[in-house]
Amino acid sequence: MKKGKVFVISGPSGVGKGTICAELMKKYPDLAATTVSVTTRAPRPGEQEGVQYYYRSDEQFDKMLSDGLFLETVDKFTHRYGTLQSEVEKVLSEGKNVILEIEMIGGANVKKRIPEAVLIFILPPSLEALTGRIKGRGSETEEEIRIRQAQVETEFDQAEPYQYFVVNDDLFEAVERVKDIIVAEGLKDDYRSVKKNFFGRE
Ligand code: ADP
Ligand code: 5GP
Repeated sequence: MKKGKVFVISGPSGVGKGTICAELMKKYPDLAATTVSVTTRAPRPGEQEGVQYYYRSDEQFDKMLSDGLFLETVDKFTHRYGTLQSEVEKVLSEGKNVILEIEMIGGANVKKRIPEAVLIFILPPSLEALTGRIKGRGSETEEEIRIRQAQVETEFDQAEPYQYFVVNDDLFEAVERVKDIIVAEGLKDDYRSVKKNFFGRE
């Protein structure tokens, strides 16, 4: 069984990461699986425990951290987020690719822990389009929108370790590009293992 790879999908808040991942899973269910992170923020209307996140208190998060359960964690927007090692391993053990929809500091930390991880940055077509999408989603307060807007340039600067950049203008196109990246990365191989498979020896 060919081993799955870890893909990180990041980008400014409201760029459409969640929408792209949901569409990708729907259209190509065998390609990859996403994981559910832990957060200390409150669920937004419509969000459910174990679906968008596992919602935990600061104290519970601290305990999980000291128990070494996280692949990476970040403090962001006054809340904490963390990727569970167990969630990643579960998907990889099924021979599937893992998609981590996380922010850039987390992405860079994943790359340090797992050098073969592939980092994909999603860009909005423009700053105006991004603000429009965040407002349109209607889940953040004016103050939260202001904080997230002020962070956009910093977020771009954090994209240095990213290897792929996909503009989410037309959703269909963006989903196809992310799919192409995952498929192409899966086709990568190295001479030694190809030769070993072919001849049945080193
Ligand atoms: P993120 O997960 O990056 O914070 P979301 O997936 O929640 O962003 O998307 C933010 C908003 O933008 C949502 O209302 C979503 O429907 C909308 N959106 C996503 N992709 C596009 C697109 N290509 N064109 C127009 N609107 C989009
Ligand atoms: P939101 O609060 O809008 O759901 O997420 C805020 C930001 O946190 C998004 O950029 C999202 O991708 C990121 N995020 C979600 N889960 C994790 C995680 O486990 N680790 C890291 N580093 N970022 C995360």
